[in-house]
This record gives sequence, C-alpha cells and structure tokens, in this order.
Amino acid sequence: MSEWIDLRSDTVTRPTAAMRRAMAGAEVGDDVYREDPTVNRLEELAAERFGKQAGLFVPTGTMGNTIAIKLLTRHGQEVICDSRSHILNYELSMMAWFSGCVARPVATSDGRLNWSAVEREIRPPGPHWAPTGAIEIENTHNMAGGTVYPVEAIDEICGQAHARGLKVHMDGARIFNAEARLGVPAVRIAAQADTIMFCLSKGLGAPSGSMLVGTREAIDEGRLLRKRLGGGMRQVGVLAAAGLIALEQMPARLGEDHDHARLLAEALAAIPGVSLDPRAVETNIVIFDVSRTGMTSPVISARLKEQGVLINGISPTAMRAVTHYDAGWIECQKAIEVLRKVLAPVAA
Ligand SMILES: *Cc1c(COP(=O)(O)O)cnc(C)c1O
Repeated sequence: MSEWIDLRSDTVTRPTAAMRRAMAGAEVGDDVYREDPTVNRLEELAAERFGKQAGLFVPTGTMGNTIAIKLLTRHGQEVICDSRSHILNYELSMMAWFSGCVARPVATSDGRLNWSAVEREIRPPGPHWAPTGAIEIENTHNMAGGTVYPVEAIDEICGQAHARGLKVHMDGARIFNAEARLGVPAVRIAAQADTIMFCLSKGLGAPSGSMLVGTREAIDEGRLLRKRLGGGMRQVGVLAAAGLIALEQMPARLGEDHDHARLLAEALAAIPGVSLDPRAVETNIVIFDVSRTGMTSPVISARLKEQGVLINGISPTAMRAVTHYDAGWIECQKAIEVLRKVLAPVAA
C-alpha cells in the first residue's frame, strides 16, 4: 500500500517510528479498573490541554460523539446541528439509536452555525414538539471543506445556549487544525463548550483513538456509557502511548498540511474543468468540483488510481483531497501531475 499517494483522508496516516517505539515499551494495566498508567496520563493531559476537569480515552470519534450526545440530552429531544455534520450523516444514526434523539439540521453555506440560525430552531416545551436537548458544532467542518469557526461565534452560541439551559458539544475531530489555522490555542477555542471530542488518529497520526473531555461528573458518567458500548479496553496503554505522542508533538506540524492543501488547491484551480476557490481552503481539506471535466468523480477516482493516486468523490461531481503527515509536498506535487494528466484530455 505504501506506494500509493493516498489523499482520501487523514485517517490513513500510520504511526510514526517514535509512536511504534512508545507502543512497544508502554507501561500498561487494566484500564477498566483504571490501572493503566499510560491511559491515565493521556486522559489527564487531554483534560489539561482543554482546561476541563477530566478526559476519557475512546476507541473512535464516533463513540466519543455518541457518549457526549447521550450525556447532554434526554430521550426524545432534538439536537441542533449543521445539515452536513458528521453526527448526522456519518455515524449510522447513533443519535437516534443510542440517545433516542433526532437531529434538527440547519443548512449552512460553509458548515458554520451562527446563533441567529440556531435560535430559530430551538423548540420550546409544547404539546407538539420534541424539545431541544443540545447544540452540536463541528470544528473544523469536514464536509464543508475543513472550515474553521471564529472563536467569537462559538462563544456566542455557547453563551446564549447556556443562558437557556442548553449544552453544547463540539465535534473537534480536527480541533488542532483549527488551532493551527487561527493561531489560537484549542483551550481558548473550546473554552465555552461543555464537551469536546477530538481525534488522536487523523492528522495527529495515532493508529486509533479519540478523547472526550468535560466536567468530572460528565466524564465519570461517560466512562460507564463507554463500557456499555463495549469500549472498556483493558491494556489499552499500547494505544495511549501513541496518543500521548500525537497530542504532545503532532499539533505543531499541522500548519504544513495546510500549506500543502493550499498549494494543491491552487494547482487544481488552474486545471481546466476543475472549479474551486483556493482561498476557501482553510485547513487540510480540499473539495473541488469536476462537473465541467465531462467525467464523474468515480471515473476520475478510477483513473487516478491507475496512476497511483487515491482521491475519492463525495458526490458524482465533487471530490475531496485531504493532506496529512504521510502525504507531504513531494506526494502532493506528484498527485498534481497525475491530476493534470487525467483531467487534461477531456478538457482539451
Ligand atoms: C473522523 C470524524 C469523526 C470520528 O470518526 P471515527 O472514524 O469514528 O473516529 C467525527 N467527526 C468528524 C467531523 C470526523 O471527521
């Protein structure tokens, strides 16, 4: 697999040599008894990094979001979220399945909710409506192309929500990409959110694992929910050891991925038949339109693959390339050459 230039997602990153060494030497214990010192250290570090009371290591981001929604809502409520959000579209209806909640999606142009759009969707108690239970914001926003929330918008949503007794969960799968983009520490970005989930895998390079942070009370309850979901993982310090390196060392290099995404976007914009605005690329995700190439995205994906480049479509006319640690500038340059070759004949 290693000869592929894989721009399908930042989930494809493999653990670094330092991570593999740390994993091999990790001190472990039974984490269900809370006796895994490496997991305990990671949970403390995550909480500290976000200025929250406690942290919980979970196997996946989906499980972290699932636990958060359950913690912040009651059965039969609504969760206000963006219409392209991960919790609504890519988590097998976990909100309904586990928490008994339905999504109240808000359409946005760029994935970013604002308070006035959220306020219109809040359901007061009444004879016909499912009351609003929580608000969810995705930062950075995956399917909107890695867009970053302004800190003030998050503060306003959280402040107004709290004034109405509503809680806010941040799906911060890529929160450190937001940190790198804004030059504002994640602890400030997420200061007002009640719970935050972030991924140690993806751009930070760990082989698996995400963190949920929040109040001690919420995380204690979350630990039970994790067990109920089958996420009590015993000697999981072997993964937490990689997670510690991911959290301590990898956020500082994410700006490189953003530079590569911007260069990729500029090169793509110059290919006839491809449409995108490179200025809209804020982090490591590049979404581009291929409708004027005369080919559908599955056809383009297949032709790129023949030349060793993996990029997936997100619709018949749109594709998404994601830069990461294992696809640096040399790989992106090669991908651009292949994209030019694959798209040129039709455009000409
Ligand atoms: C990747 C991702 C998740 C979590 O995904 P898992 O594959 O379950 O770890 C959650 N939210 C967003 C926005 C993501 O991109």
